[in-house]
Amino acid sequence: MSTEETFDIIVVGAGALGVASAFYLQKNNPDKKILLIDRLLAAGQANTAMSAAAVRNMFGSSTNQLLTDTSIKYFEHVQNDLKHELYFEKTGYLWLLSEEQYNSENAKVWMGRMKDSGIQFKVYTKDELKEMIPGLNVDFANDEEAELMNLKEVAYGLFGPDCGVLDPTRLVEHYLEEFKKVSHVKPRFGVNVEKLIVEAVPKLDLPGEPYVWQNKRVTGVKTNKGIFKAETIVLATGAWANELLDPIGIDSQTKTKKRQLFVIHAGEREGLRNLLYTKGFNDLGCIPFTILPSAGVYFRPQLQEKGFWIGCGDKFGRAYKYIMSDEEMVPETSYYENSMYPVLSKYFPDFKDTRATNMWAGGYCYSPDRIPFVYEDHGVIVVNGASGSGIMKADALGRIVDALYRGEEEAQLYGGKRINAKALGQKDRKVDLETAVI
Ligand SMILES: Cc1cc2nc3c(=O)[nH]c(=O)nc-3n(C[C@H](O)[C@H](O)[C@H](O)COP(=O)(O)OP(=O)(O)OC[C@H]3O[C@@H](n4cnc5c(N)ncnc54)[C@H](O)[C@@H]3O)c2cc1C
Repeated sequence: MSTEETFDIIVVGAGALGVASAFYLQKNNPDKKILLIDRLLAAGQANTAMSAAAVRNMFGSSTNQLLTDTSIKYFEHVQNDLKHELYFEKTGYLWLLSEEQYNSENAKVWMGRMKDSGIQFKVYTKDELKEMIPGLNVDFANDEEAELMNLKEVAYGLFGPDCGVLDPTRLVEHYLEEFKKVSHVKPRFGVNVEKLIVEAVPKLDLPGEPYVWQNKRVTGVKTNKGIFKAETIVLATGAWANELLDPIGIDSQTKTKKRQLFVIHAGEREGLRNLLYTKGFNDLGCIPFTILPSAGVYFRPQLQEKGFWIGCGDKFGRAYKYIMSDEEMVPETSYYENSMYPVLSKYFPDFKDTRATNMWAGGYCYSPDRIPFVYEDHGVIVVNGASGSGIMKADALGRIVDALYRGEEEAQLYGGKRINAKALGQKDRKVDLETAVI
């Protein structure tokens, strides 16, 4: 026997975007009955938990700058004023750039827009970098291997001091705890949405309705735990959005790509320890989140583990998937050993002979312009397409979901900045193309 319950809003997906949305919706609509559900047994266990959990306001598009800069400031507020520990550490971001990359039109636009938006950044020369990071190899002059591998020599460093890393589980806990303080309904886990229910409005109770000539909308969700009805469904299912949207004819315009992270401990290796505790960039006395000029390889410091997380934003050659499959969650040791490690150890020879002690994989949910989507369509508010940077935009996106729900023209972001509530929509999209994607 299937049960049926009714709510005002159902938020499907309790990742970073779902919990932030649920919190702002409940905070600003205190009388509404909001149900938050996820098919996993706890919040934030899917791609949110798989992320490198780095946050940066250094984006090429002013839209992403706004979404991230205001979210990061909110995270600082949570940690410093609300005293909820997010392990937010301002390590900074360091983009190592070749001469050509630094002088490219893209980089000029990127730096110009950051200047206009008041995003702090500093340029380091090759000599300055070499002095600060003695373990960085900036000379590939007589290195045939480096040439064969198409590695570009480091010429500049573009550093953002207001960027850093945090603990995404703590961030999810923050929104969830705040949501629970104001909500009327307990979040439910282990609830799998099998389909979105589309019904005629008004219902005429004709056999086989809704017909094409009827008005229709999504009126609820069919799950493994019964049917839940609501006026509005917020779909925050990230890399799985197409699974529920396709069958009802909503084109999410997003697709996913596998991304992996590998853990390297510095252990007793002096060179790696010196690299990890590089001085001069931040108050923590550690190496920033660092992006290499070639092959999409990057790493972040992990101070609690005294090590590094190594990732790679490879592009051509890595398949897009329409819906994320379980296979995407399986990391490949050979990917580190044959693809990332050779690049990493050329730029940072102290990584020579390192092996990953831990690894995991997940999927980015890409939009065509690498800017997230937030839009309403027939009773569903969709929030996705964060394109590999959803943690760092979570606060702004949660506020936009709420503004859209309330029919506000603008969403007020943390710190008072505003954005048109429909700017991230599919129809009235008002965004600029993102170029600084990792
Ligand atoms: C390797 C890697 C590194 C990354 N690094 C960073 C980074 O440094 N910084 C950053 O900001 N971002 C990073 N990201 C991206 C970031 O993880 C995502 O943008 C973010 O987690 C998206 O949040 P979400 O809530 O949309 O997705 P998710 O956390 O995936 O949440 C979606 C939820 O929906 C649930 N769900 C799906 N389908 C259903 C259904 N039918 N019924 C019920 N529940 C359902 C899932 O169980 C899941 O909990 C990285 C991602 C990966 C994979």
